[in-house]
Amino acid sequence: MDNCIFCKIVKGDIPSKKLYEDDQVVAFYDVAPAAPVHVLVIPKEHVLESARAITSEHAALIAHIYEVIAKLADELHLDGGYRVVTNAGPDAGQTVMHLHFHLLGGKLGPMA
Ligand code: 5GP
Ligand code: ZN
Repeated sequence: MDNCIFCKIVKGDIPSKKLYEDDQVVAFYDVAPAAPVHVLVIPKEHVLESARAITSEHAALIAHIYEVIAKLADELHLDGGYRVVTNAGPDAGQTVMHLHFHLLGGKLGPMA
């Protein structure tokens, strides 16, 4: 989609520090980390603006995203645990309207 930062990252038009890619998803480091480890996992296709639009049609994609998150958490040695966040809509502070999941690890504070 034109003018979507994450679509531009998928295409390589905006550089990013990618750590995983397959036919469905891309994972890259967040440019403004909110935790010692802060990775974004996104579908390559601009299928949904946010988690609000998820239906059973997307079950396989969402399961795959969580599978990738678990694999990355292992590879990043987040052995003590991690947090997955998806902001949906303005009240949650969502700034990029391309579905994405924040993988947060390291020393995390309590949820705000
Ligand atoms: P949201 O607030 O929409 O849930 O999260 C968007 C995230 O994208 C933010 O954490 C922000 O730092 C990150 N972000 C925005 N623009 C870029 C960019 O150009 N590159 C990377 N790597 N992350 C970005
Ligand atoms: Zn997009």
